Amino acid sequence: MTANVIDIDDLRCIYGTFEAVRGISLQVGQGELFALLGTNGAGKTTTVEALEGLHRPASGRVRVLGLDPVRDRAALRPRTGVMLQKGGFSDALTVRETLELWRSFTARPRPAAEALELVSLTGKDKVAVSQLSGGEGRRLELALAVLGRPELLFLDEPTTGMDPASRRQTWTVIRRLQEEGSTVVLTTHYLEEAESLADRVAIMKTGEIVTVGAPDTVVRTLPARITFKVPADVPQLPDLGRGAQTAGDQVTYESHDLQADLTELLAWANGNAITLHGLAARPASLEDVFMEIATDDDAADHDQERTEATR
Ligand code: ATP
Repeated sequence: MTANVIDIDDLRCIYGTFEAVRGISLQVGQGELFALLGTNGAGKTTTVEALEGLHRPASGRVRVLGLDPVRDRAALRPRTGVMLQKGGFSDALTVRETLELWRSFTARPRPAAEALELVSLTGKDKVAVSQLSGGEGRRLELALAVLGRPELLFLDEPTTGMDPASRRQTWTVIRRLQEEGSTVVLTTHYLEEAESLADRVAIMKTGEIVTVGAPDTVVRTLPARITFKVPADVPQLPDLGRGAQTAGDQVTYESHDLQADLTELLAWANGNAITLHGLAARPASLEDVFMEIATDDDAADHDQERTEATR
């Protein structure tokens, strides 16, 4: 069995007297793309900083590629790539000069042309960094993060500020890096990004992991929804197991078996010659799960329940 690239056991992180990370445990396997999601202030950055060796845990055990990220930081640094929320390159240099500067202190770097091609900045090599658009600047940061072909790549909100086309292009780059063998830890507030890219996601709230699993497994913990406009002159709507909820002119059913419930609903409508205006059926999304966690004041109490459900 391949050893985990990341192994966290009961990690606690404290600022002064404030406990920002409250005893989380997590493993990420080799080649996996893992997305860490959560509300603002949930503890994602603190967790990632503990993995990068930038934050010394109050207690618990953290191993990255089998090493202690604080004690073995020098050994780990060349094996990992980091794309921070705010990059730190000099505005005075061109794109090419920036890449060459970073290549000069990277062990076994990619050729500059390959790095530029990877993030589709080939035509921008002579442009000053200060003149890049926000999205192009993020792509240059990604190129710098992957210059040393890292075994483990940390991407902190990599597509913030990008237009939808650049975002999708960046997803393609991230998938390519994963295909090259990199393990990727991603933090993002774009839930469709996590849904599209991640093998597994964890959702954090107030320093704890509320749920973890493959995106579709996490999403399946919530029911799908069937909606339509309240039909005129119908004395009794069908029950479909859980009963209809009516709000204004809208009927909603929650469903754990969309095909069976839709079949029953359509048979009822056909049998009674009823037209279901505005009929829509939609599975739950990661955003629905996120919103339920974000707005649930007792989320931590359901932690055990959800973790069991998504195993
Ligand atoms: P966001 O999505 O907003 O970036 P996050 O999940 O990354 O949030 P963290 O940055 O890890 O959250 O912060 C977790 C908590 O720790 C927050 O309440 C934050 O205010 C607090 N915190 C972070 N850094 C410090 C610090 N240096 N000193 C004191 N408190 C801090």
